[in-house]
Amino acid sequence: MRIWIKSPLATFDGHQELKCNGFVIENNRIVQIPESGQHPDLPVDEIHDASDKVVIPGLINTHHHYYQTLTRACPAGLDKQLFPWLKGLYPIWANLTPEMIDVSTQVACAELLLSGCTTSADHHYLYTDRCPDALDIQVEAVRKTGIRSMLTRGSMDLDRDRGGLPPSSTVQDTDTILSDCEHKVDQYHDSSPDSMLRIALAPCSPFSVTRELMTKTAEIAEKKAVLLHTHLAETLDENAYSENRLGCRPLEYLESTGWMLDSTWLAHGIHFNDSEIEKLGYGRTGIAHCPTSNMTLGSGCCRVLPLTEAGANVGLGVDGSASNDCSNMIQEVRQAFLLQRLHSGPEKFGHIRALRLATSGSADCLRWPGIGRLEVGALADIALYRLDEIRFSGVGDPIAGLVLCGGHHASDVMVNGIWQVQDGQLLNSDMEKIHRQHRDLAIQILQDKR
Ligand SMILES: [Zn+2]
Repeated sequence: MRIWIKSPLATFDGHQELKCNGFVIENNRIVQIPESGQHPDLPVDEIHDASDKVVIPGLINTHHHYYQTLTRACPAGLDKQLFPWLKGLYPIWANLTPEMIDVSTQVACAELLLSGCTTSADHHYLYTDRCPDALDIQVEAVRKTGIRSMLTRGSMDLDRDRGGLPPSSTVQDTDTILSDCEHKVDQYHDSSPDSMLRIALAPCSPFSVTRELMTKTAEIAEKKAVLLHTHLAETLDENAYSENRLGCRPLEYLESTGWMLDSTWLAHGIHFNDSEIEKLGYGRTGIAHCPTSNMTLGSGCCRVLPLTEAGANVGLGVDGSASNDCSNMIQEVRQAFLLQRLHSGPEKFGHIRALRLATSGSADCLRWPGIGRLEVGALADIALYRLDEIRFSGVGDPIAGLVLCGGHHASDVMVNGIWQVQDGQLLNSDMEKIHRQHRDLAIQILQDKR
């Protein structure tokens, strides 16, 4: 089966604008990019006319908490900074059930796909006695949606009684976590280039995890050759916690627990000093920039340009839906564009840089070389946007218009050579039922205070 995405209105290839006559897809890869005015050398079975669409690599989300779609705009979390926000929401999140994990995962993935996202990383760290198998549930759920996934075996083992932030109902004991980490990597991690599912290990944060868990998780990750992920340097509160309780800054702590910077990606990475940025660049550490969440919680602004120029692999993430409160990757590109211009100036941060963050930048952040680029041999993960709404009327540069005018949903999305969205609609017919279930469960999680 060969598909020709023909004559795009404009194309961004993951690095820059590309003049071409579209893309030929065979099975799950791009096999040819005809030059402008040229036709494919090979016979094709299906032609997709893209003459009124902008074509870009499928967007890659590097940080999320899918379960939080059940607590969007939640009164317990409104108008607060990170620590009080977490303290307000933990007791609600402690009510999670297996059904809630399944349904919230599918809803988040649906929302991501509709926005043009084709690969997404989720950081699930809530394992209560009701949900000891959260990762198994998520694996089944993402497979139903067709999105390419980096799921993490997250963890928390430091409760309030022992100096951490989360309540005891949301943490597990260290040995249980460590044996489950090994087991889940063996069971689900697929490191092949065509992989639809990879697993990483992800202790939640320095204020919810013991030093022992940080250290031993890094040992397992190294042994199993999987990535490590955690929240780091998100707020000044966290830096103060680290200095007071752990005796050093967050990055020093991370290194002291044996985390290798070249196999780690960090959510947020805001409050680093210049020498720490140099170190992260040297290690080519991944950073998931989450602009909407950082603005919502007033956490600060990630120094994307200095980190990128130092050599760090900076990608883009929407973060959980309790601090975003949506899972829309093309909107997140615009948020990064605006926030980074405020920080670095309009001459230094344009729409191309913002799109790079969400495509090739995110792929490098997740150490996943076959995605985030439109080139021969790349995996066929592609997003198409039709600029036919009033908001785009009068656009001069279509690629700039997609970002500046506030593009918010894709018309067509292909993952691994298979259409998952066509004419703005998900092809997964169960979504209406899942959406209804999700609304009911969002009411239930608030009422079911444990
Ligand atoms: Zn997060």
